[in-house]
Amino acid sequence: MNTNSRVEALSIKLDESESKRLHLMDLLDLIQEIVHSLNAGMSINEVIHTTLKRLFKKFPNHRVSYSTVSGKGVLKVLESFTPDQMPDIKGVEADLNVADDYLSRLQSHETLAVEDVYKYTMFDVLHDAMKAGNTRAVLDVPLSHSDDLVGIICLDSSERHRWLDDEIQTVTEVAALLEVSIREAKIQAERQAMAERLADHALHLEHIVQERTMELEKAKTEAEELARSDPLTGLNNRRAFYQDVGPVFNLAQRSGFPFSVLMMDIDWFKNINDTHGHDVGDIVICMLADVLRSTARKSDVIARWGGEEFIIALSEVSGPSAVEYAEKIRHKVSTLSINGVREAPHSFTVSVGVAELNGDIENIDALIAPADKALYQAKNTGRDKVVLDQRRTGHVAPSETFSKD
Ligand code: GH3
Ligand code: MG
Ligand code: MG
Repeated sequence: MNTNSRVEALSIKLDESESKRLHLMDLLDLIQEIVHSLNAGMSINEVIHTTLKRLFKKFPNHRVSYSTVSGKGVLKVLESFTPDQMPDIKGVEADLNVADDYLSRLQSHETLAVEDVYKYTMFDVLHDAMKAGNTRAVLDVPLSHSDDLVGIICLDSSERHRWLDDEIQTVTEVAALLEVSIREAKIQAERQAMAERLADHALHLEHIVQERTMELEKAKTEAEELARSDPLTGLNNRRAFYQDVGPVFNLAQRSGFPFSVLMMDIDWFKNINDTHGHDVGDIVICMLADVLRSTARKSDVIARWGGEEFIIALSEVSGPSAVEYAEKIRHKVSTLSINGVREAPHSFTVSVGVAELNGDIENIDALIAPADKALYQAKNTGRDKVVLDQRRTGHVAPSETFSKD
């Protein structure tokens, strides 16, 4: 080799290394742009769009596209940038199973740089599709996730084209970068989906807890109601009487407003049981309870004290007014009939003891005791009557008792 040809060979080599240097700089530039778009927080589809656009700028004579490939081998073109002489193929779908050799090469992560698709039998069944897309040469770089084929970056040419190393290297590098991005996006999406599932589950649990809490509260309320009420009459029991009467008694003590208690007991009730039976006795107790319920004001505290005995606390009612009230009940009861028959022994009566709150009385029991005494007095002086406790005068005066006559 003479000097001239040596110089020529050297300058060719220099040219080659210069163009390689330029290519590498350009590739670096392209990669930095993609990394920048990733760092800018773009969605994966936006990253793909920006990347393809940038690739197309570099290879304006080729169609640049990205297609997804489903687990079943169906390809769908997600994004494409197309030179004038070629049709846009965005949205096109193709089942790659018909070209199994082509599909299996892609699934094996093989980059396919095909100069002329009509020269390869693996593309035979895709000739029509290639014609429709005006595709003659293809550069396919597969993208995978967890070893599965998920997409392809493709450069198409409408002419036969021998793919240059620079082109193959560029698309391969870009594909590797996108592969990482897609993997990240999928992991992110899976994490998001898992977080949503967990949040749904937590919400579901919260609902269950709320429902259980409501059921428990309802059961608790029902249990409390049950614990407060007398099962036969549905009236308050003695325990509930004490709970309810406490505040009204205290108010009466503080305010000095009148306050009275009635103790009421069915007369000769044992006889009613003996004559009509225990069940009828129960009915009679309920009849009296109904009278008390229908006569009561909202502020009255009524309870079944036990057996055939009832108690009524009357707020803002003086002793004499409480006697009138008791008389009303006594009279009403005397008009009722057992088993629908009015004549004795088919009617019943009640005796009532009344006591009014005064300054000496410190608690409700201290008011119940004289009412009880007055009731005892009513029983001892003939029954079917109302007796007012006369503690101020130191005794229960028979002349001050009230009878039905
Ligand atoms: P008095 O006029 O002195 O009050 O006489 P009495 O017969 O009403 O009173 P006594 O205390 O002798 O009898 C009350 C009876 O009430 C005795 C008891 O068996 C009956 N008794 C208590 N609780 C119930 C009940 O829930 N249902 C029925 N049917 N009877 C009851
Ligand atoms: Mg009795
Ligand atoms: Mg009794």
